[in-house]
Amino acid sequence: MFDHVICGGGSAGSVLAARLSEDPGRRVCLVEAGPDTPPDAVPADIRLSYHGHAVYNPDFLWRGLKVTLPHRPHNQPGEGPKPRSYEQARVMGGGSSINGQLGNRGVPSDYDDWAREGAAGWSWEEVLPFFRRLETDLDFGETPLHGGQGPIPVRRIPRDSWPGYSRAAAAAWEASGLPYLPDQNGDFRDGWFALTTANAAADHRVSAAMGYLTEAVRARPNLTILARHQALGLDFNEAGRAVAVRLRAPDGAERRLEARRDIILSMGAIRSPAFLQSQGIGDPADFAPHGIATRNHRAGVGRNLQEHPTMGMAALLPAESRMPGALTQRNIHAGVRWSSGLPGIAGGDMFALAIARPSWHAVGARLGAIQAWVNRSYSQGSVRIRSADATEHPEVNLNLLSDARDAERLMDALRRIALWHALPSLRGAIRYAFPAVYNEAVRKVAVRGLKNDIMTRLLAPILELPGPIHRAAVHAFITEGPPIGQLLGDDDRLEAFVRANATGQWHVSCTCRMGREDDPMAVTDSAGRVHGTPGLRVCDASVFPFVPSANTNFPTLMTAEKMAAGIRAEG
Ligand SMILES: Cc1cc2nc3c(=O)[nH]c(=O)nc-3n(C[C@H](O)[C@H](O)[C@H](O)COP(=O)(O)OP(=O)(O)OC[C@H]3O[C@@H](n4cnc5c(N)ncnc54)[C@H](O)[C@@H]3O)c2cc1C
Repeated sequence: MFDHVICGGGSAGSVLAARLSEDPGRRVCLVEAGPDTPPDAVPADIRLSYHGHAVYNPDFLWRGLKVTLPHRPHNQPGEGPKPRSYEQARVMGGGSSINGQLGNRGVPSDYDDWAREGAAGWSWEEVLPFFRRLETDLDFGETPLHGGQGPIPVRRIPRDSWPGYSRAAAAAWEASGLPYLPDQNGDFRDGWFALTTANAAADHRVSAAMGYLTEAVRARPNLTILARHQALGLDFNEAGRAVAVRLRAPDGAERRLEARRDIILSMGAIRSPAFLQSQGIGDPADFAPHGIATRNHRAGVGRNLQEHPTMGMAALLPAESRMPGALTQRNIHAGVRWSSGLPGIAGGDMFALAIARPSWHAVGARLGAIQAWVNRSYSQGSVRIRSADATEHPEVNLNLLSDARDAERLMDALRRIALWHALPSLRGAIRYAFPAVYNEAVRKVAVRGLKNDIMTRLLAPILELPGPIHRAAVHAFITEGPPIGQLLGDDDRLEAFVRANATGQWHVSCTCRMGREDDPMAVTDSAGRVHGTPGLRVCDASVFPFVPSANTNFPTLMTAEKMAAGIRAEG
C-alpha cells in the first residue's frame, strides 16, 4: 500500500515523486508508461543540447498520435480538417526529455488572471516562490526573482556566441524598436533577450527526470519507480473514493497498486482527461456511447484545450550566418516578446524566436528561421476518448485559430517577420527568406535516418547555386508556401495561408482546469483535487486555467512544485 500513486513520470510527475518522497513518512510510487532515463544511462538523444533528435525519436513518443489542427490544404479548400502527427513524450521526464529546453515563465498578469478565474492561491506573487524553487540560475544566482538551489539549472547563451543569423535577428528587433532585456523571466516589458534554457553549464539538457529523480532521490526507501508500466484504470470503494490503480506491466501482466491518500494523474493534457473519461468522469456525452457509466459528471474534462498557434519564415543562409560547429551546441538562442495591442488583451502576448539550423540534416544546416506564436491564445479545442480502452489514443482537436483574435495576431506576426527580414541587418545576413510550412512531409524529413541524410545531401548543393535556381529549389522542395510578397499584398490570401498552415508549439494544456466547484467547466480545485471524486488529483499542464504566455514546461514544473508543497502541508 502506497500513500501516493503518481500516474505519469513526465515533467509534473517527476517533480511530485521527488518532492513528496522527501517526507520519509510517505510511501510514493511513480508509474511511467515509457522507458526510464536513470542518471547513469540517459540516452544520448535526450542529453543532447540540440533537441531535434529527441523530438522525433519514436522510442520516446506515443506513436501514432494524431491531432486535428484544423489543417485545410490551400489547394483543397473544401476538405475537412485532416489529422496529423503530434509529438507527445512517452519516457521518464515526459515533455522535458524531448522538448526545446526553453525555460519561460510567462508574464505576471497570466497568473493574476488565473487567480481571478478561480484558481485561488495562484497569483504571480504566490507562484513566484515555486518558479524560484525549481531552478538554479547559473547567470543571476539566487535573487528575489531567481532560484539558486533548485534541481533545474538554467542559463543563457551570450550574444557573442550566437551564429550570425541569430545576431542579425536581434539587431532587426532592436531596429524595430524592441529593446534588449537582460532577463526574460524578470523584466516583463516588450523586448528581445537571450533565451533562458534548462541546460547545464556542460551544455546538455536537464530534464525533470534528470534534475529531480537523481541517484540520491531514487535511493530513498519510500520511493518506488515503475517504468514501462501503463495505468489502465482505477478502482473505487463504495463511497466513490479512488483507492487503487490498475496497471499493465512490461510482461503484459496486470498489477494493482493501492493508494491510502491519493492517486495523482500526471499523464499530460491529452491523456489525463482521456483517462478520466475512460473512468466515467467528465461529460457523459463523451463516454456513454462507449458503454461507460457516469461516475462523476464534470463537463470540463477534455474541454478548454489550448495551444499556441505558430507560423514562421525560413531563410537560406550564406556560410557566415550559419550555425557553426557540431550538433552539441544549442541552435535556439534569441527570443523576442511584444504586445499586439489588441483591445482587452494583456501586454506581452506575442513571442518569436530565431532558430539557426532548424533541422539536423544538410538542408537544415543551410537554413535559419524565425518562428512566432500567439503566446496568450484564446482558441479552445477538445479531447475525447474513441473507445472504452484507456490505451487507445483519444480524438484531439486543437481547433487552432477558431478565435478570430488568434488568427488576426498570427497574420500580424507573419507580416512582422517579413518586415524584420527586410531590415538591413537581417537582409544582409540571408540569401532568400520564404514562408515556412511545417507539414507531414517536412516532419518526415526531420526524422534522423540514412534516407533523409542522403536526400538532403543531394539537395544541399542546389541551394548553393545562384538566385533563380535556389529560389526555384526552395519552392519545389522545401516549402509549400508562395513567395512572401504574394501574401503581404493580399490579406485574404494571407489569412487563408495562415489558417491552412498554422501549427502548434506542443503546448497542449487546460483540459482539466482548476477552478471553483460551482464552475461547471472546472475539473479540479486549487490543490488539484478532482471535484466530486475523493482520493483523485490531477497535476500536470491540464490544470492550467488558461495557457500562460510561456512555453509550458516551466509553468508545469512550477505547478507540480506548488501542488507538492500543498499536499505536504495538508499533513
Ligand atoms: C516536442 C516538444 C517540444 C516542446 N518544447 C518546449 C520548450 O522548449 N519549452 C517548454 O517550456 N515547453 C516545451 N514543450 C512543452 C512541455 O514540455 C510540456 O508542456 C510539459 O512537458 C508537460 O508536462 P506534463 O507533466 O503535463 O506532461 P508530460 O511531460 O507529457 O508527461 C506525461 C507523462 O505521462 C506518461 N503517461 C501518459 N499516460 C500514461 C499512463 N496511462 N500510464 C503511465 N504513464 C502515462 C507519459 O508517457 C508521459 O511521460 C514541448 C513539448 C514537446 C512535446
